[in-house]
Amino acid sequence: MLKFYLTIILAILATIALIIADVSAIAFIALFIIVSVIIFLGVIKIEMQFFAKSLCRGDGTKQEVAITFDDGPHNNTLKILDILDKYSVKAAFFLIGKNADEKPDIVKEIINRGHIIGNHSYYHKGTFDIQSRKKMISELTKTNNTIKSITGKDNKLFRPPFGITNPIVGNAIKKMKLISIGWSVRSLDTSIKDPGKVCSRVYKRIKPGSVILLHDTTKDIDIILENIIKYLKNNNYKIVSLRDMFGTKFDI
Ligand SMILES: [Zn+2]
Repeated sequence: MLKFYLTIILAILATIALIIADVSAIAFIALFIIVSVIIFLGVIKIEMQFFAKSLCRGDGTKQEVAITFDDGPHNNTLKILDILDKYSVKAAFFLIGKNADEKPDIVKEIINRGHIIGNHSYYHKGTFDIQSRKKMISELTKTNNTIKSITGKDNKLFRPPFGITNPIVGNAIKKMKLISIGWSVRSLDTSIKDPGKVCSRVYKRIKPGSVILLHDTTKDIDIILENIIKYLKNNNYKIVSLRDMFGTKFDI
């Protein structure tokens, strides 16, 4: 939240300076637009760390990347797990609590095969970010309870739905002592229909330390995943778990 507070303080100071300088209304409008754009980008771009400290990429010192999946468990998840096993890759799955309640066996399978899981809200509605902090905490707790009931483990990881953060999300993360996990490579696999285009987009953006965002729910996720793994291996990238990438920051 430091960046958010700093922006507000600077905006107030700039407003006072403009009042003292006795400038025209256009200057105030320009300032308002600039501050609004900065705050808007802070809301939609989790990697800006505007409202919550999020782990979005490794330090980039090693030729390694991590692969993550959102929105499962889903009927595709088992296919994904088989491909990950085929290449001995460990990934992370951020689960929608409602889906986990409906498919507990798949959640167990994710854990049994050595992958990491985390909370990705319970309902994953578009209104997640605008509910009260109390309701948000209750929703996140509901998913943590589901994870605990299936796996027996306390969950500390959270990936904000749609990667959106704001003061309410930031406060809920802090209050629940969650570790927020973002990404640095957004595949757009839920909106780009052609698997080849999704892969090209990912290849262009991959760097040492990248955290790749994919979704269990994507129709051709098996093709996309296998191609990305092959590309990474051919380009001498090591695919590591989030735990290996973030070390002590990931102390759960
Ligand atoms: Zn999602």
